[in-house]
Amino acid sequence: MDFDVIVVGAGIAGCVTAYRLAKAGHSVVVVERGAEVGAKNLSGGVLYCRVMDKVFPGFADQAPVERRITRNYLGFLNPDSLVGIDYHDDRLGKPVNAVSVLRAKLDPWLAEQAEAAGAVVMPGFKVDSLLSEGGKFTGIKAGDDELTAHVVVLADGINSFLARDAGLRTKEPLKHLAVGVKSVIGLPRQTIEDRFGLAGDQGAAYAIVGDCTAGAGGGGFLYTNQESISIGVVVRLDDLVGKGLSSSELHDRFVLHPQIQPLLAGGELLEYGCHLVAEGGKAMVHDLARPGLVVVGDAAGLTLNTGLTVRGMDLAAASGIAAADAIDDALQDGNFGQAAMDGYVARLDQSFAGKDMATYAKAPAFLENPRLFNDYGPLLANVLRGFYNLDGAPREHIIPVFRAALKESGLGITRLARDGLAGVKAL
Ligand SMILES: Cc1cc2nc3c(=O)[nH]c(=O)nc-3n(C[C@H](O)[C@H](O)[C@H](O)COP(=O)(O)OP(=O)(O)OC[C@H]3O[C@@H](n4cnc5c(N)ncnc54)[C@H](O)[C@@H]3O)c2cc1C
Repeated sequence: MDFDVIVVGAGIAGCVTAYRLAKAGHSVVVVERGAEVGAKNLSGGVLYCRVMDKVFPGFADQAPVERRITRNYLGFLNPDSLVGIDYHDDRLGKPVNAVSVLRAKLDPWLAEQAEAAGAVVMPGFKVDSLLSEGGKFTGIKAGDDELTAHVVVLADGINSFLARDAGLRTKEPLKHLAVGVKSVIGLPRQTIEDRFGLAGDQGAAYAIVGDCTAGAGGGGFLYTNQESISIGVVVRLDDLVGKGLSSSELHDRFVLHPQIQPLLAGGELLEYGCHLVAEGGKAMVHDLARPGLVVVGDAAGLTLNTGLTVRGMDLAAASGIAAADAIDDALQDGNFGQAAMDGYVARLDQSFAGKDMATYAKAPAFLENPRLFNDYGPLLANVLRGFYNLDGAPREHIIPVFRAALKESGLGITRLARDGLAGVKAL
């Protein structure tokens, strides 16, 4: 064998797996199709980073992260109003819980850590197929080049055709996939801190539903970086296709919305890109291991959107840890059969990532409810308008104000109660 382990893809899942295995003394190569590590990768980018501390102690102090998220904003956006829950909490920064990141900076740093631990990182190397012998996977093929290893780790992201070729995944239904379109808008540091009420390295993360996607399933996000803002939309593919919408037009609709545009005023467009996002939750996680092969990160379907948080990067890291530890055991035993590789699945299931996927298994179905994106924003705005709009008519108590708004929405109390219950069960 050329190496103990070949890792396909130098994203978060691949780099964490490679770092941990190289640190344990194994020979590891990471192959990456991008001309440079990070060139192909895109996240919204809030990284819930406690898991990274397990791999790189003091992660937020050493890694090129942007801001520590101490303000979370959940908003319902309507054509002419925005209703939000604004949660500031300094405790979220001490110890640091989540950071905003730019993958073009973070991924090269992760690859450097893997290299420093002894892994070989090879950018510009696109794997075309897997090699196998006697029912065991033995390596990879890229053009005329072949590399062999005891174990191959597929960390090649949401589009992993290698996992499909290995019989581990099938074509996903459209509702399990979304497309994300994102811009990075440059602004002076002080402007960002003034506009978002931040100090020092504090950061804000906005999750918004409603008019930003023209009522399609999905939402908008806005995250503050040190000297830029990451902003964009994530829209479910089934709704995009069904409603004949364009994801780039929805992105523009969001950034130009009168409630959002002032937050970006005077900014300069630095980056623009789009990428698929896994939306199916636990239903997207299929077989993850074969003799000599494991699948990690997005390639394994490990993304979790609860509406309040979008998580994929921390789950990618957790799966990398589980894979590296199971492969370390397998290399020590010299056994790479199905049972040894299933050790990865057992470790993943026992980790917070496996447990969170199970806890939020109902979240994707809850987020398919069109009323979340169309009806609840106007309802909330109308109730609040009933309070704040002193139009000269005598005031009414909250119950009649609420009843009138509910009647206008056409929702009805039973439907409201059912949706509320579904939300409680899903989250
Ligand atoms: C718009 C958007 C917003 C998001 N927001 C968030 C967020 O705020 N927080 C969060 O935690 N997650 C977020 N996510 C999800 C997150 O980006 C992913 O879960 C995460 O990037 C998965 O990491 P990964 O290492 O598994 O895969 P990736 O980061 O996709 O890395 C896969 C790597 O494999 C390489 N590769 C692919 N095919 C091959 C091949 N054949 N040969 C060699 N190399 C190959 C790719 O070039 C890439 O470098 C978001 C995603 C999108 C698109």
